[in-house]
Amino acid sequence: MDASEQRFDSALDALDRARALATDYLASLPTRPVSYAPSIEEMAAALDEPLPDTGCDPAEAVSEWFRRAERGIVASSGPRFFGYVNGGTTPAALAGDWLASAIDQNAGMWPSSPAAAQTEQVVVRWLKELFHLPAEWVGTLTSGATTSNLVGLAAARQWAGLRLGYDAAQDGLAAGPAIPIISSTEIHASAAKALATLGLGRANVRRLPALGGSMELAALEAALAETHGPVIVIANAGEVNTGAFDHLAGIAALCRAHVPGAWLHVDAAFGLFAAASPRLRPLVAGIELADSVAADGHKWLNVPYDSGFAFVRDAELLRAAFAVSGAYIAPAPGAGLDPFVYVPEMSRRFRALPAWCALRAYGRDGYRQLVERCVDNAQQFAAWVEETPELELLAPANLIIVCFRYAPEGLDDAATDALNRRAVAEIQADGRAFVTGTVWDGRAAIRAAFDNWSTMPEDVDILAQAVAHIGARLSHR
Ligand SMILES: *Cc1c(COP(=O)(O)O)cnc(C)c1O
Repeated sequence: MDASEQRFDSALDALDRARALATDYLASLPTRPVSYAPSIEEMAAALDEPLPDTGCDPAEAVSEWFRRAERGIVASSGPRFFGYVNGGTTPAALAGDWLASAIDQNAGMWPSSPAAAQTEQVVVRWLKELFHLPAEWVGTLTSGATTSNLVGLAAARQWAGLRLGYDAAQDGLAAGPAIPIISSTEIHASAAKALATLGLGRANVRRLPALGGSMELAALEAALAETHGPVIVIANAGEVNTGAFDHLAGIAALCRAHVPGAWLHVDAAFGLFAAASPRLRPLVAGIELADSVAADGHKWLNVPYDSGFAFVRDAELLRAAFAVSGAYIAPAPGAGLDPFVYVPEMSRRFRALPAWCALRAYGRDGYRQLVERCVDNAQQFAAWVEETPELELLAPANLIIVCFRYAPEGLDDAATDALNRRAVAEIQADGRAFVTGTVWDGRAAIRAAFDNWSTMPEDVDILAQAVAHIGARLSHR
């Protein structure tokens, strides 16, 4: 590396090149194939090679990567990606994210960036206002809902340990009895992953029945009656296959009635956004009675990866879970809150900047419109599924998730499952739209999620055309 390149004024070419590639890419998003579905061999041939001995011009490196990797880029931030639950990135959020990279702040400690630390506090407050969550809760930005679940459940673990007479973070779980955990069969894989990371055990969850995706209250009441100590209850606000909501107010009432104590954690990765619309807010009624809430930024807030946020009622429990000490990081006189006291990381990206720019640029009203537009798109697609004879809607279209399948006459269950699995791969390879598969009620199914800010009714029509064409092609084989 030439020493002169340590000065950015001599390396602006590389930034210009990245900007040109990015703007061309963004301009192509409305029309480019969502996926090229390249083979493993094709991607390896494009990229796999030993570390180069000698370097090249930074601008060339950027262009070369794009050229070589392009067929493996999935247009998941574009308007015709309906897989998993992704979301895109708004112009304000993307510009904020570029700036976050350029100024490269360490958002772990106040002294390393008072700007980042203060901005994060403001973003957390704005998010609580957007979602009508209690102002006195603390919150933090995370890398996504998995880490948000980890943050909320770490506070829950701390709370339960103290009730059982030990300090889980300080002394470890071996210091006390096991902590019971109750959720439903629809607990998200990421909450189970968080439980595994926290040493609580992913197999240690009592999974109650959830007809239609919502935890059965009578089953929770019975399970709590059989649990003699403090318990952690994990509820869903927006189940991933169908968008179903647990009855949060009912669950919260049962938790409060459990005398040894019950910590209610709500996985609201995308469902929390219902609170941004007066029309949809009843879906999350009672969420303000929870002890911790996990949500995602890179989904429905439409900020770039990676971004999520967690809220916790009791700041002290959260601090105890992630406490850290060291002479070189001792709080400095006159310094504000170190954001790292609430999260598993120490050094961290300035995720608050893209979120601040988006919330500033669109405001409460912009997010209400974004949320309602996405829900309208989902309803448009669900209505089309219902009126199309070869298709079956497998669950009511809750919020932004449509769960459906091809159900042509004359095929048995196994053949119908096989057809739907093949159809998912073919829709993805077709490139007009992208959906993902799942299993619902024991049957192979297809999911479409509508949380991208830029999806328009025309894009929903393209999805419907792709689903119809590929269905027709597969059933005429
Ligand atoms: C997406 C999702 C998660 C995990 O979020 P990541 O951002 O992928 O970590 C957790 N819970 C629910 C309900 C989700 O939809």
